[in-house]
Amino acid sequence: MREERWPLERDVLFRPDRLKYVRRVIKDEACVFCKTREMGVALESLCLYQSSHSMIILNKFPYNSGHVLVLPQRHVGEMLDLSMEEYTDLHVTLRKAVEAVTKVYSPGGLNLGMNLGAVAGAGIPAHLHYHVVPRWAGDLNFFPLVAETKTVIENLETSFERLLTYLKPALARENERTS
Ligand SMILES: [Zn+2]
Repeated sequence: MREERWPLERDVLFRPDRLKYVRRVIKDEACVFCKTREMGVALESLCLYQSSHSMIILNKFPYNSGHVLVLPQRHVGEMLDLSMEEYTDLHVTLRKAVEAVTKVYSPGGLNLGMNLGAVAGAGIPAHLHYHVVPRWAGDLNFFPLVAETKTVIENLETSFERLLTYLKPALARENERTS
């Protein structure tokens, strides 16, 4: 499969413009978020929503039920590398994610955060992403063993269905607008 997509060396030698394509292929192969973008909205990709420049995906390793990621579709690691249009769209989408998580989970609060760069704690520094983590009093205790209650995180399929049901109308409007 990988070989099929790999551009022929001949193409690169005789067509320097293909170099750009080679770099893109390498990035896409390596980046789980880019792969998600290509798969589109589906349980398999955990992608819940796509706008013209951004997307919302369910975190595969949630800190809490309803933990989603909001990110640009383009493979960008630096916020300053986003165009103004991409930046605006990202934050409109972030608002949509906050709305969906709030309506579906009614959390006591939310953590919004972005770790820019590996030294800042980013797990996938090459493709920037916001974390939206719903919070409830007493959850995510630093000492779960001594805590009286332990956070129970619902399974990903359930979270996906609940959030997708909420986001579906907005997604349909978005698709209509961009088609
Ligand atoms: Zn990427």
